[in-house]
Amino acid sequence: MVKVVKFGGSSLASADQFKKVGKIIKAEDSRRYVVPSAPGKRDSKDTKVTDMLYKCYGEAKEGKNFDKTLKAIKERYNEIIKGLGLKLSLEEQFKEIKKNFEDLAGEDYAASRGEFLNAIIMSNYLGYEFIDAASVICFDKEGNFDGEKTNDVLSKKLAKVERAVIPGFYGAYPNGKIKTFSRGGSDVTGSIVARAVSADVYENWTDVSGFLVADPRIIKNPEAINVITYRELRELSYMGASVLHESATFPVRKAGIPINIKNTNAPEDKGTLIVETTCNKPDSTITGIAGKKGFVSISIDKDMMNSEIGFGRKVLQVFEDNGISFEHMPSGIDTMTVFVHQDEFVEKEQKVLAELRRATEPDSIELESDLALIAVVGRGMKNAVGVSAKVIKALADARINIKMIDQGSSELNIIIGVRNRYFEDAIRAIYNAFISEEK
Ligand code: ADP
Ligand code: ASP
Ligand code: MG
Repeated sequence: MVKVVKFGGSSLASADQFKKVGKIIKAEDSRRYVVPSAPGKRDSKDTKVTDMLYKCYGEAKEGKNFDKTLKAIKERYNEIIKGLGLKLSLEEQFKEIKKNFEDLAGEDYAASRGEFLNAIIMSNYLGYEFIDAASVICFDKEGNFDGEKTNDVLSKKLAKVERAVIPGFYGAYPNGKIKTFSRGGSDVTGSIVARAVSADVYENWTDVSGFLVADPRIIKNPEAINVITYRELRELSYMGASVLHESATFPVRKAGIPINIKNTNAPEDKGTLIVETTCNKPDSTITGIAGKKGFVSISIDKDMMNSEIGFGRKVLQVFEDNGISFEHMPSGIDTMTVFVHQDEFVEKEQKVLAELRRATEPDSIELESDLALIAVVGRGMKNAVGVSAKVIKALADARINIKMIDQGSSELNIIIGVRNRYFEDAIRAIYNAFISEEK
C-alpha cells in the first residue's frame, strides 16, 4: 500500500501544526510521499507566506528595499524550526533568495520559495529525502504543464526513493526557470505524484473534515460529503468550492486513484472520498452547492432568430475574437443570453456590443451586471422528480428573484443565476430545502 499525502497551508502554518502532520504521517507506514504547501494563516488575521513572497518580490521589482518583508518571511520559518527543535539553518537559502530577488528571477520563482523552504523543513523533520520539484515537475516552453514527460521523469525518480518530500505548487521550464501552477496548485502536485507512484490513494489534508455540502463561510457547520464522484467534484470546484484546485483531479483520475480529503485537526474523521463512480447513494438528492459572484448577462433579441442559421456562431465568434470565455448560454426562441465574467467583460464592453450589433443585427441587446451563478450538483438528480421545482420553491419562499435557470445536459447540475446580493441567502435557502429538510 502506498499513499501520497498533501498538506495545505493551514496544516503547516506553525510548529504545532507540523507536529500534528508528523504524527499523521508516522501513523501509517504507507504514507511515503509527502507534498507540503507553504505555511498558511495561523489565524484569520494572519498572512500566507505565499502572499508575503509576492509582496516582497513586488518591492524588489520596484527597486525598493525588501529586507523587512524578507525578514518577516524568514521569521515564519525560523519559528517553525525552533518549535520543532530542529538543528537546521536556512541562512544559505535566504542569502540565495535575496540575491535572486535582486536579480529579478521572476514572480513564479519568488512564490515557489514558500513550498521549497517548507519542504526542506519537512524532510529534515521526517528524515525523508528532499526532491526539488524543479527537477521532476515539467512544463513545456510555452509554460503548459507536460503531464507525460513529468510522469516519466517522476516515476523513474521515485522508484528509487523509498520516502520523499516534494514541494508543491511549482516545477520548471525545460531551461530550468521556475514556473508555478495557479494559486492553490499544491493540490495538483499531490495528484501528479500520486499518479507517478501509482498510489492506492491520494490523501489531501486540509482544515475541514472533507468536501462539505456548501461553503462553511456561508452555511454554519455544513455536512461533509462521504463519497463524491470526480464529475460532481469538478462541477463544484469549478463553480467555486475552493477546497481542491480545479485541475487536481485530472492526473489521478487518469490512473483511477481515489482522493481522500482529510482534516489535519481531526484526523479520525472519515473525510470525503472522491471516486470515479460509485453505487453509494448520496444522503440527499443533491450532493453539493457552490457558486461564484461577478457575472454579466448579455441578452440578444431578434425576431426569427431561431430560423437564422449560424446566429449562435456569430455571437460566440465576437466573444472569441475579444478573448472572453463564456460561462453559460441559455436561449429562448428569439433570444439568446450569454453569461460572462464581469471582470473580463467590462473593459471591452462597448467594443463587444458594437461587434455584436454588426455581426447579428439584433432588435435589442440588454445587459445585466452583478449577477451570481449557483450550481446545485448531484448524481442523484437524474432519477429524482421535481428537483428544479424544489430549488425554485426554496428561492421563491426566500423571496429571491431567479434571473436564469439552466439544467445541464448531464443532468448532474442545475445552474441558477441571481443578483450578487442574494448569493448567500440563495445558497442558504437551497441548503435548507435539500439538506436540512430531507433529514
Ligand atoms: P489548504 O490550505 O489546505 O489547501 P484551502 O484553503 O485551499 O486549504 O481549502 C480549504 C478551505 O476551503 C476551507 O477552509 C473552506 O473555508 C473552503 N471551502 C469552500 N467551499 C468548501 C466546501 N464546499 N467544502 C469544504 N471547504 C470549502
Ligand atoms: N502556496 C500556494 C498558494 O497559496 C499553493 C498552495 O497553497 O497550494 O496558492
Ligand atoms: Mg488549497
